Amino acid sequence: MIEENVKKILQELPPGVALMAAAKARTPEEIMRAAQAGVKIVGENYVQEALAAFNVVGHRVKWHFIGHLQRNKVKKAVEIFDMIETVDSPQLSEEIDKRCGQRERIMPVLIEINSGREKQKFGILPEDADEFIKEISKLKNIKIEGLMTMGPMFGDPEDARPYFVETKKLFDRVKTLNLPGVEMKYLSMGMTNSYQVAIEEGANIVRIGTKIFGPRD
Ligand SMILES: *Cc1c(COP(=O)(O)O)cnc(C)c1O
Repeated sequence: MIEENVKKILQELPPGVALMAAAKARTPEEIMRAAQAGVKIVGENYVQEALAAFNVVGHRVKWHFIGHLQRNKVKKAVEIFDMIETVDSPQLSEEIDKRCGQRERIMPVLIEINSGREKQKFGILPEDADEFIKEISKLKNIKIEGLMTMGPMFGDPEDARPYFVETKKLFDRVKTLNLPGVEMKYLSMGMTNSYQVAIEEGANIVRIGTKIFGPRD
Protein backbone atom coordinates (compact mmCIF):
# COMPACT_ATOMS: atom_id res chain seq x y z
CA MET A 1 0.00 0.00 0.00
CA ILE A 2 2.53 2.60 1.13
CA GLU A 3 4.83 1.66 -1.74
CA GLU A 4 2.06 1.96 -4.34
CA ASN A 5 0.83 5.23 -2.90
CA VAL A 6 4.29 6.78 -3.02
CA LYS A 7 4.95 5.62 -6.58
CA LYS A 8 1.60 6.93 -7.77
CA ILE A 9 2.11 10.34 -6.20
CA LEU A 10 5.69 10.60 -7.50
CA GLN A 11 4.47 9.85 -11.02
CA GLU A 12 1.82 12.51 -10.95
CA LEU A 13 3.89 15.33 -9.40
CA PRO A 14 5.16 17.86 -11.95
CA PRO A 15 8.94 18.24 -12.28
CA GLY A 16 10.42 20.53 -9.67
CA VAL A 17 7.88 19.67 -6.98
CA ALA A 18 9.27 17.66 -4.06
CA LEU A 19 7.23 15.15 -2.11
CA MET A 20 7.51 15.19 1.64
CA ALA A 21 6.05 12.31 3.62
CA ALA A 22 4.36 13.90 6.64
CA ALA A 23 5.02 11.17 9.16
CA LYS A 24 3.35 12.11 12.43
CA ALA A 25 1.96 9.07 14.27
CA ARG A 26 3.61 6.63 11.83
CA THR A 27 6.05 3.94 12.88
CA PRO A 28 9.71 3.97 11.84
CA GLU A 29 8.95 0.86 9.75
CA GLU A 30 6.21 2.64 7.82
CA ILE A 31 8.54 5.56 7.19
CA MET A 32 11.23 3.16 6.02
CA ARG A 33 8.81 1.66 3.50
CA ALA A 34 8.00 5.11 2.16
CA ALA A 35 11.73 5.83 1.86
CA GLN A 36 12.35 2.58 0.00
CA ALA A 37 9.55 3.48 -2.42
CA GLY A 38 11.27 6.76 -3.28
CA VAL A 39 10.40 9.36 -0.66
CA LYS A 40 13.41 11.63 -0.15
CA ILE A 41 12.04 14.02 2.48
CA VAL A 42 10.29 13.09 5.73
CA GLY A 43 8.43 15.69 7.80
CA GLU A 44 8.12 15.27 11.54
CA ASN A 45 6.00 17.26 14.01
CA TYR A 46 7.59 16.00 17.22
CA VAL A 47 11.27 15.77 18.09
CA GLN A 48 10.93 12.58 20.17
CA GLU A 49 9.06 10.77 17.43
CA ALA A 50 11.62 11.97 14.91
CA LEU A 51 14.52 10.61 16.97
CA ALA A 52 12.95 7.15 17.03
CA ALA A 53 12.38 7.23 13.28
CA PHE A 54 15.82 8.69 12.59
CA ASN A 55 17.45 5.83 14.47
CA VAL A 56 15.89 3.39 12.02
CA VAL A 57 15.78 5.32 8.75
CA GLY A 58 18.87 7.52 9.19
CA HIS A 59 20.32 9.52 6.33
CA ARG A 60 18.42 7.73 3.55
CA VAL A 61 16.10 10.73 3.61
CA LYS A 62 16.23 14.42 4.53
CA TRP A 63 14.43 15.30 7.75
CA HIS A 64 12.25 18.41 7.90
CA PHE A 65 10.66 19.68 11.08
CA ILE A 66 7.05 20.75 10.46
CA GLY A 67 5.49 21.04 13.93
CA HIS A 68 5.55 23.80 16.48
CA LEU A 69 9.11 23.73 17.82
CA GLN A 70 9.47 24.44 21.52
CA ARG A 71 12.64 26.15 22.55
CA ASN A 72 13.66 23.39 24.95
CA LYS A 73 13.62 20.92 22.02
CA VAL A 74 15.88 22.92 19.74
CA LYS A 75 19.13 21.41 21.00
CA LYS A 76 17.98 17.92 19.97
CA ALA A 77 16.30 19.16 16.82
CA VAL A 78 19.47 20.67 15.37
CA GLU A 79 21.18 17.30 15.75
CA ILE A 80 18.92 15.52 13.31
CA PHE A 81 16.94 17.92 11.13
CA ASP A 82 18.12 19.10 7.74
CA MET A 83 15.55 21.89 7.66
CA ILE A 84 13.14 23.55 10.07
CA GLU A 85 10.05 24.62 8.12
CA THR A 86 8.19 26.24 10.98
CA VAL A 87 10.21 29.20 12.23
CA ASP A 88 7.57 31.43 13.77
CA SER A 89 9.16 33.74 16.36
CA PRO A 90 12.32 35.74 17.08
CA GLN A 91 12.88 33.71 20.26
CA LEU A 92 12.83 30.41 18.41
CA SER A 93 15.12 31.82 15.69
CA GLU A 94 17.63 32.97 18.28
CA GLU A 95 17.64 29.59 19.99
CA ILE A 96 18.19 27.77 16.68
CA ASP A 97 20.99 30.20 15.87
CA LYS A 98 22.64 29.65 19.25
CA ARG A 99 22.41 25.84 19.17
CA CYS A 100 23.64 25.68 15.58
CA GLY A 101 26.55 27.93 16.55
CA GLN A 102 27.56 25.41 19.19
CA ARG A 103 27.55 22.64 16.59
CA GLU A 104 29.20 24.79 13.92
CA ARG A 105 26.40 24.25 11.46
CA ILE A 106 23.98 26.41 9.54
CA MET A 107 20.30 25.49 9.60
CA PRO A 108 18.21 26.01 6.48
CA VAL A 109 14.79 27.27 7.58
CA LEU A 110 11.44 28.25 6.14
CA ILE A 111 9.31 30.93 7.72
CA GLU A 112 5.85 29.70 8.69
CA ILE A 113 3.19 32.10 7.48
CA ASN A 114 -0.19 32.19 9.19
CA SER A 115 -1.91 32.87 5.89
CA GLY A 116 -5.41 32.38 7.33
CA ARG A 117 -4.67 34.85 10.16
CA GLU A 118 -6.06 32.21 12.53
CA LYS A 119 -5.76 32.99 16.22
CA GLN A 120 -5.17 29.38 17.23
CA LYS A 121 -2.42 28.82 14.65
CA PHE A 122 1.27 29.60 14.84
CA GLY A 123 3.12 31.51 12.17
CA ILE A 124 3.98 35.04 11.14
CA LEU A 125 1.16 37.17 9.77
CA PRO A 126 1.65 38.02 6.09
CA GLU A 127 1.85 41.74 6.87
CA ASP A 128 4.64 41.17 9.41
CA ALA A 129 6.73 38.86 7.25
CA ASP A 130 9.06 41.39 5.57
CA GLU A 131 10.16 42.88 8.83
CA PHE A 132 10.52 39.49 10.55
CA ILE A 133 12.62 38.10 7.71
CA LYS A 134 14.85 41.19 7.64
CA GLU A 135 15.43 40.83 11.36
CA ILE A 136 16.23 37.14 11.54
CA SER A 137 18.28 37.13 8.34
CA LYS A 138 20.96 38.78 10.48
CA LEU A 139 21.44 35.55 12.46
CA LYS A 140 24.61 33.88 11.21
CA ASN A 141 23.71 30.23 11.73
CA ILE A 142 20.30 30.36 10.08
CA LYS A 143 19.71 30.45 6.35
CA ILE A 144 16.22 31.47 5.22
CA GLU A 145 15.30 29.43 2.16
CA GLY A 146 11.59 30.07 1.74
CA LEU A 147 8.11 30.00 3.22
CA MET A 148 5.74 27.38 4.58
CA THR A 149 2.03 27.68 5.22
CA MET A 150 -0.75 25.44 6.46
CA GLY A 151 -3.74 27.64 5.71
CA PRO A 152 -7.18 26.97 7.12
CA MET A 153 -8.61 23.46 6.69
CA PHE A 154 -11.56 23.08 4.35
CA GLY A 155 -13.54 20.17 3.00
CA ASP A 156 -13.26 21.69 -0.46
CA PRO A 157 -9.62 22.43 -1.35
CA GLU A 158 -10.73 25.25 -3.67
CA ASP A 159 -11.47 27.22 -0.53
CA ALA A 160 -7.77 26.98 0.41
CA ARG A 161 -6.63 28.52 -2.88
CA PRO A 162 -6.70 32.20 -1.81
CA TYR A 163 -4.35 31.44 1.10
CA PHE A 164 -1.88 29.70 -1.19
CA VAL A 165 -2.12 32.60 -3.65
CA GLU A 166 -1.40 35.12 -0.91
CA THR A 167 1.58 33.13 0.38
CA LYS A 168 3.01 32.82 -3.14
CA LYS A 169 2.69 36.59 -3.62
CA LEU A 170 4.55 37.12 -0.38
CA PHE A 171 7.22 34.63 -1.50
CA ASP A 172 7.73 36.53 -4.78
CA ARG A 173 7.82 39.88 -3.04
CA VAL A 174 10.41 38.80 -0.47
CA LYS A 175 12.49 37.49 -3.36
CA THR A 176 12.57 40.97 -4.91
CA LEU A 177 13.90 42.44 -1.66
CA ASN A 178 17.20 40.63 -2.34
CA LEU A 179 18.07 40.42 1.33
CA PRO A 180 21.59 39.23 2.08
CA GLY A 181 21.57 35.60 3.21
CA VAL A 182 17.94 35.10 2.17
CA GLU A 183 17.17 32.81 -0.74
CA MET A 184 13.49 32.32 -1.59
CA LYS A 185 13.83 28.82 -3.01
CA TYR A 186 11.20 26.64 -1.33
CA LEU A 187 7.48 27.17 -0.96
CA SER A 188 5.99 24.41 1.20
CA MET A 189 2.20 24.29 0.84
CA GLY A 190 -0.51 21.68 0.49
CA MET A 191 -1.47 18.44 2.21
CA THR A 192 -3.41 15.36 1.14
CA ASN A 193 -6.62 17.17 0.34
CA SER A 194 -5.14 20.39 -1.01
CA TYR A 195 -1.81 19.64 -2.66
CA GLN A 196 -3.02 19.79 -6.25
CA VAL A 197 -4.37 23.29 -5.69
CA ALA A 198 -1.17 24.25 -3.84
CA ILE A 199 0.96 23.11 -6.79
CA GLU A 200 -1.16 25.13 -9.20
CA GLU A 201 -0.43 28.14 -7.02
CA GLY A 202 3.31 27.62 -6.89
CA ALA A 203 4.15 25.12 -4.13
CA ASN A 204 7.38 23.20 -4.71
CA ILE A 205 7.26 21.10 -1.54
CA VAL A 206 4.01 19.26 -0.74
CA ARG A 207 3.53 17.63 2.65
CA ILE A 208 1.50 14.46 2.33
CA GLY A 209 0.54 12.09 5.14
CA THR A 210 -2.82 10.37 4.69
CA LYS A 211 -2.47 9.74 0.98
CA ILE A 212 0.81 7.89 1.60
CA PHE A 213 0.19 6.09 4.88
CA GLY A 214 -3.61 5.89 5.09
CA PRO A 215 -5.88 7.50 7.69
CA ARG A 216 -4.38 8.29 11.11
CA ASP A 217 -6.24 6.53 13.90
C1 LIG B 1 -0.13 16.19 9.32
C2 LIG B 1 0.47 17.26 8.53
C3 LIG B 1 0.48 17.22 7.13
C4 LIG B 1 -0.13 16.10 6.30
O1 LIG B 1 -1.49 15.96 6.50
P1 LIG B 1 -2.36 14.92 5.62
O2 LIG B 1 -3.69 15.57 5.55
O3 LIG B 1 -2.36 13.65 6.38
O4 LIG B 1 -1.71 14.81 4.31
C5 LIG B 1 1.10 18.27 6.44
N1 LIG B 1 1.65 19.29 7.09
C6 LIG B 1 1.67 19.37 8.44
C7 LIG B 1 2.32 20.54 9.08
C8 LIG B 1 1.07 18.37 9.20
O5 LIG B 1 1.09 18.47 10.53
